[in-house]
Amino acid sequence: MKANYGMCTIDMVYDSRIIDVDEGFTKMLGYKKADLASSGITYRSLMVQDKNDEGFKSLTDNTINNGMACVEHFIRRKDGSVINVSCFGRNRGDDKIDIMITEDKQEWNSGGGGYDRLTGFYNYAAARAEIARLLKRGGKEYHSCILMRLRNVEKMDELYGSAFTGAIIENTAMYISRYYSDMGVKIVPGRLSRDTFLVFECGDEPEKVEKNAKWISEELKKSYYGRRKGISAGIELGISHMDLGDDDFEKAFYTAGLALEYADKNGTEFEIYDRNAENRYSKPEGHNIEDDLPEENERVFDYDNRFVSFAVALLANARDPESSLDVLLQRTAWKYKFQYALVCRFEKKHYVRVVNRYVRGVGIALNEDEVLDMNDWDKFMRSFDHNGISRIDDTSAEYLSDEDREFFRIRKVGSALNFLLHDNGLPAGYVSYCRTEKSGEWDRTSINTLIQVSKIIEIFLSQRIRNEEEEKRLRKLSKDFVTGLYVLPAFVAEAEKILKNFDENKCYAVVHTDIDNFAYFNSNYGVEVGERILKMYADIIDEVCREGGLSCHMEEDIFICLLIRDTKEEIEEAVKKMGRSFHELNAGNRALSNLRSSSGVYFMEKNKLDLKEAMSNASLAWKTIMNDGLVPYRIYDDEFRLKREHKLEVISSVRSAIENGEIEAFFQPKFSMKTMTVVGAEALCRWRNPDGSYRFPDDFIPILENEGQIVDIDFCIFEQVLQAIESWKDSGFNVVPVSVNFSRAHVGTGNFAEKIIAMAESFGVEPKYLEIEITESTISSNDTRMLNYMNELRRKGFKVTMDDFGTGASSLNMLLDAPIDVVKVDKGFMDRYENPLYRAYIDSIGNLIIMAKKEIIFEGVETQEQIDFLLECGYDTAQGYFFSKPITLREFEDKYIFKNTHLKAGTQNDDK
Ligand code: C2E
Ligand code: CA
Ligand code: CA
Repeated sequence: MKANYGMCTIDMVYDSRIIDVDEGFTKMLGYKKADLASSGITYRSLMVQDKNDEGFKSLTDNTINNGMACVEHFIRRKDGSVINVSCFGRNRGDDKIDIMITEDKQEWNSGGGGYDRLTGFYNYAAARAEIARLLKRGGKEYHSCILMRLRNVEKMDELYGSAFTGAIIENTAMYISRYYSDMGVKIVPGRLSRDTFLVFECGDEPEKVEKNAKWISEELKKSYYGRRKGISAGIELGISHMDLGDDDFEKAFYTAGLALEYADKNGTEFEIYDRNAENRYSKPEGHNIEDDLPEENERVFDYDNRFVSFAVALLANARDPESSLDVLLQRTAWKYKFQYALVCRFEKKHYVRVVNRYVRGVGIALNEDEVLDMNDWDKFMRSFDHNGISRIDDTSAEYLSDEDREFFRIRKVGSALNFLLHDNGLPAGYVSYCRTEKSGEWDRTSINTLIQVSKIIEIFLSQRIRNEEEEKRLRKLSKDFVTGLYVLPAFVAEAEKILKNFDENKCYAVVHTDIDNFAYFNSNYGVEVGERILKMYADIIDEVCREGGLSCHMEEDIFICLLIRDTKEEIEEAVKKMGRSFHELNAGNRALSNLRSSSGVYFMEKNKLDLKEAMSNASLAWKTIMNDGLVPYRIYDDEFRLKREHKLEVISSVRSAIENGEIEAFFQPKFSMKTMTVVGAEALCRWRNPDGSYRFPDDFIPILENEGQIVDIDFCIFEQVLQAIESWKDSGFNVVPVSVNFSRAHVGTGNFAEKIIAMAESFGVEPKYLEIEITESTISSNDTRMLNYMNELRRKGFKVTMDDFGTGASSLNMLLDAPIDVVKVDKGFMDRYENPLYRAYIDSIGNLIIMAKKEIIFEGVETQEQIDFLLECGYDTAQGYFFSKPITLREFEDKYIFKNTHLKAGTQNDDK
């Protein structure tokens, strides 16, 4: 076979405009030189684009950044037909790229004996030779040997045939080599047996090698694994790293093999050979990898391997197999110049339904259901030969009946090529390709390719039939046998029917309801009791729904209802009733007398009748109160929705806010009331809006606390504080200690004390300038980890403050024993200062704290009167609006640091 190739030069300044072409290029695409060169046509426009111009981007970006690139893509010829080319780009400088396209890639590989014909990878011997050659050059470089094995190859062979498996193997190889070349990693790729690949990675450190391999393994799992289509592939891998300078790759090879076997036996997918744990690997049982070499004649058929691989990749990787099938029809039509490409299914009697259709010039066209009546069924079926092919080269031929000729004439079909599809051994449909003109000779390769493609379509068709049957079966089994309620698919089907006849005068709600702590009952009283409880709750739900509605046992202890009443109030009443009746049950067992349930309610709106969304909203509302025990139900209303949207907004934008410096530390001074001088400050966080205004912590801290992202905020503020103190020290001015708030979310994120210590050290800020504020409720939850961190910090000389004292549940002992230096009395006490009871309380609490030998500070001090009172009780330190609100760092420095004078309080408030 002679390779077809052509060259062109493109100019990236003008969006890949073609500025020069050679004869090969023009011939291949059917243009004249003048059509292309300097006519303004761009290479991009010739490429038949994949998603988001990926191929184009990969070609041009890689060429420009790495000097060269190789991609495969479809390219449109002048006559509109499309060919698949391998395209090699080389950077010429000046934003110009030379491009060479080759029409048949097989050509490059078939020559060298060292290649595996299917994948273009080295075979075992050639890979060894290549690696040996590489290592001989010496040089200090990391090397790792990775063996990857495709799963379930035999099963796939059995189920789908070896052509299909071959395509998967090829696609996997293609993925591997693309991945490494995109990453700019040098590898020696090999194929060692039918399902085993070798990647010998050069120049990357072990972690990087593992990261790459992990990535590949995840990606391949995603592409073939666990899809409904029943094709499960994915790979398992074994890695062995070589020491720097080590050239014994045979050993690495062998140990990678051990690791792979280990991964295989233990189902771990991923194993890195650990030479310190040699005995975990069992010795291979005299198995010689060379026995496994792919057979010379793997590709028995002569077909367009590349196109078949493309077809498999397209369908196997598809999120949406239906539309991928459309794309496949389209590509097939382009490639073989068909006017129509259809997939039809046989229905009952002699009807045929068109389920996918591509029409050239129209596109994917399945707007109306087309059902054909094949009245002469026998004749139609007889037209297929023993290969399942029916071929009409000329639809006006004599041997066709008048009716048939008329059928084709109306549809402007000149010739047709049909391939029968089977399911379970029985004819189930066919793929039909038609041209407007008569057909000439078909070459063997094309026919074989179309056979392979139709086999692939067959697999997907029968999978589709399977799925439909499964669904039907489920419908039949529509009641759950424990509870007697609908199972989910049946519920959805029934509910949708009801919603189709939506009555505007009624009120509809979807309710998600769930038994609190069900797992507890199940594990403490056994599954039987668990089932009894389920049944009892199901009965209650059923009763409520029978007055209007529908119910379903979704899974475990989750039930979904569609409730229908005249008003929202009645629905709310029904939901309450479900909870109440359940709570009042005692299940014949005193220990079970405290059953509770919680529900989320979503009211359907007449112009938004999406059941799935309603279910998910009801469940969102439920999630906010699940296991809460106090609130029996929550309605998903506007307030809920706004809150949720706000929450999502905060969660999704906080990362970038931190990165963009929008999270800013404000400083609120702490004062000595006796001397009216600044003795410290607390850092409080603000979120700066683009317009310069600020968001306050109440708006986002509680949300982030729940999500754990608060941790990043705290460290971000801490870092700003460290920076500030460092600069104060450098300037030689007075440095005051600053306290920083740390949320309880830090517990469980690793040793946060260590991190604080390390950060302070790296800024050269001594612990005496820092105070760590932790709320009383965090401390009183008595998590030993938190207490350990606090101790660790104090040992290093940090002060630890118990914040919001008086709001938590500390006992006196707790206060005496807690590893803290300072107690900050919650603002709530000052707020209630007017109340003499509180004043008395403040007085006695204070004494208690002093007895416990802790420092004491009051927050929320707003008036002179409060100060007088606190002084009278003998306290000194306070923080509050009387002295200053939290202010920006600049302002704080101007007022309290760089003046180096002890400013009188009270004067700062004036310039607000
Ligand atoms: P907090 O730690 O108890 O901080 C004291 C809060 O009281 C601050 O509110 C402060 O502006 C306010 N405040 C101070 N003096 C007065 C006063 O005289 N009168 C009144 N009415 N309020 C006063 P802010 O800055 O809105 O912070 C609210 C809460 O958000 C803080 O309570 C803290 O729990 C949390 N927070 C703020 N920044 C951070 C942070 O960086 N990390 C963490 N984890 N939490 C933070
Ligand atoms: Ca605080
Ligand atoms: Ca506080």
